[in-house]
Amino acid sequence: MTDLVGKTRALDDTDPLAKFRKRFHLPDNVIYLDGNSLGCLPIDTSARLSDTVEREWGEGLITSWLDAEWSTAPRRIGDKIAQLIGAKPGEVIVTDSTSINLFKALTAALSLRPERTHILTETTNFPTDSYMMQGIETFSGGRIKAIAVPPSELLDAVDGNTAAVLLTHVHYKTALPREIAKTTKYIQQSGALAIWDLSHSTGAVELDLDAANVDFAVGCGYKYLNGGPGAPAFFYAPKRNHHAQSVLSGWFGHAKPFDFEEGYRPALGIERFLCGTPPVLGLAALEVGVDLMLEADTTQIRQKSVAMADLMIEAMAPLCDRYGFALVSPSNAAERGSHLGFAHANAYEITQALRAYGVIADFRTPDVIRFGLTPLYLEYGDIVEAVARLEKVCVERSWDKPEYRTRAAVT
Ligand SMILES: *Cc1c(COP(=O)(O)O)cnc(C)c1O
Repeated sequence: MTDLVGKTRALDDTDPLAKFRKRFHLPDNVIYLDGNSLGCLPIDTSARLSDTVEREWGEGLITSWLDAEWSTAPRRIGDKIAQLIGAKPGEVIVTDSTSINLFKALTAALSLRPERTHILTETTNFPTDSYMMQGIETFSGGRIKAIAVPPSELLDAVDGNTAAVLLTHVHYKTALPREIAKTTKYIQQSGALAIWDLSHSTGAVELDLDAANVDFAVGCGYKYLNGGPGAPAFFYAPKRNHHAQSVLSGWFGHAKPFDFEEGYRPALGIERFLCGTPPVLGLAALEVGVDLMLEADTTQIRQKSVAMADLMIEAMAPLCDRYGFALVSPSNAAERGSHLGFAHANAYEITQALRAYGVIADFRTPDVIRFGLTPLYLEYGDIVEAVARLEKVCVERSWDKPEYRTRAAVT
C-alpha cells in the first residue's frame, strides 16, 4: 500500500491535466466516480447560464435568436464536438436527446436502403438503443424487423437484408470498446450502414469517425462532455449521407424555416436533422463543457484515463482476493473505455453504503459496481482513497443493512 501511495503522489505531481480540476465545482468530501453518467459542473457554467437567462433572454428577448446567436448554436457547438470525434465542420448538429437521435439515424439509414428491411444490434446494448429499434418495428407494422443477436454472433448476422447495424462503441457496463473502423468496414461490405452510439466514448477516448468512414453516429452531452442534466445530444452524418431522409421533419430542419412554406423541404446540410426549436439554455450549458474539453489534449486525457484505471485495478486487487470483487472490464487498457466495472454479489448494497462514505459510483443490474474515471477533474489520489473507503465498507460490513436492500427508482 505504501508503494501505491508513493506512486500515486508521483502521478499527481506530474499530471499535465491537473490544472483542470479547479475549473470544476466538486462538492466537499465527495469522490465522484460517476462522471460517465452525469459529468460535474464546470465553474463557468453558472455565469454563462445567468448571462443567457438574464441578459440574452431577459433583456434581449426574441432578438437574441440572432443577436446572441441562439439560432446557430446547434451547428456552432456541433462543429466544436466535431473536433472531439474526428468529424469535419458541418457534419455534427447538437439537438434533442440521444434516444431521439437514434431514431433519426435508424430511419435515415433505412431511407438510404429502401429495399432492405432489417435493423440489427447486439443483445446487452444500452436499452434505449434496442427500445428505439423495437419502436420502429412496431410502427412499421412489422415490415421493418429489429433484430438483436449476442455480441459474438453480430458480424455473422449481417446479410443482404440488413439496412443498418447500430452498435455502441464503449459498452456501458463493461467498458469494452468495439473496433469502429474494422467493424464499420465489415458492415459496409454487406451493403449495410454502420450507426455508432458514442455516449460512453465522446470526451473519454480518441475517435476518428472520418477515418473510420462511419455512416451515422449519436452521442450524449451530459456524460464526459459535462453539459449538465438532460443536456442536448449530438447527431453526426458525413456529407455523403446528408441526402438521407429526416423522418422527424420538423420546421427547424426545413431549408427555410422562416418562410413558413406549406410543404416540407429539407435543409441541404446537417441542419435537416434538426427538428424543433433548439433548447437554448441546455445548449449554453453544454457549450461551456465542450469548450473546456477542447482546451485539454485528447491524447493526455486518454493516457490519464488508462493510468487511473490501471491504478484502480492494482488498488482493487487485494479486495478482489478478500471480498469477492471481480473485474468485468478488460484488464488490458487498450481494450476498454474510461470506466471500470466490478461484479459483486452485493453490488447494490455496497454502492449505497459507499455513498455514506462520500464515494459516488453507480450500480448496473444485475451485479456490477461501475466506477467512472474522468481525467479532467479526478486526481490519482482520489482513486486510492475511494478504494480505501470501499475496503472500510467491506471490513465493517456496513453495506449489510436493511435500508440498502431496497432498490431506488434511479440507480
Ligand atoms: C447514456 C446513454 C444514452 C442516453 O440516452 P438519452 O436519450 O440521453 O437518455 C443512450 N445510449 C447510450 C449507449 C448511453 O450510454
